[in-house]
Amino acid sequence: MAGNAGGLTLSNYAKSRYVAMVSHRPVEKGARMDLKDHIRSIPDFPKPGILFYDISTLLAHPQAWQATVDRLADAVRPHQPDLLVGIESRGFLVAAPLAYALRSGFAMVRKRGKLPGKTVRFTYDLEYGTDTIEIQEDAIAPGQRVIVVDDLIATGGTTEAAINLITQRGGTVVGAACIIELTFLNGRSRIPVPVTSMVSYDS
Ligand code: AMP
Repeated sequence: MAGNAGGLTLSNYAKSRYVAMVSHRPVEKGARMDLKDHIRSIPDFPKPGILFYDISTLLAHPQAWQATVDRLADAVRPHQPDLLVGIESRGFLVAAPLAYALRSGFAMVRKRGKLPGKTVRFTYDLEYGTDTIEIQEDAIAPGQRVIVVDDLIATGGTTEAAINLITQRGGTVVGAACIIELTFLNGRSRIPVPVTSMVSYDS
């Protein structure tokens, strides 16, 4: 039925969009924006006792997301990366626009069995058991300057594993970057390159 979107007439739909737009908080300028205001924390996800930092709300807010990518780009640019490697899956959301902003390449580190073609893998220890990550065999050219990107660094184990995999493939890892760092877990102590984070939580 033309002009009727799910029971709303087109004009009513347009009006509701307008109300949604004008009821937003005034636009904060990028430099003043506190990114923490746009990160939602959800208790007991994915299991009891974990406070999950959800970046969906940051991604959904145009100015906050733009400020996030701009700030990361400014922090990472001096390392002059050839390639950003995003860690599955939220790391992709951060690394891809950042690679675009920096005019660098982008490659994916994924869980075992998700990437097509020839892959190489790295298995690392978790608190209980092990995990395996993979990258496509031709994703990294020897000597390329690489930055590893994820949404959040907690214990640092995932980033450390990605660095090991990339180094094994001949890449030169020059840094690691994330939006959120849980500093009380001291993840950066096990990451052998400079770490850039946009916000940190101390407890
Ligand atoms: P880690 O290897 O301990 O540094 O964990 C980092 C990875 O786990 C990242 O890919 C994060 O997306 C995810 N992660 C760990 N802890 C959290 C948390 N509290 N909130 C959201 N994501 C988390």
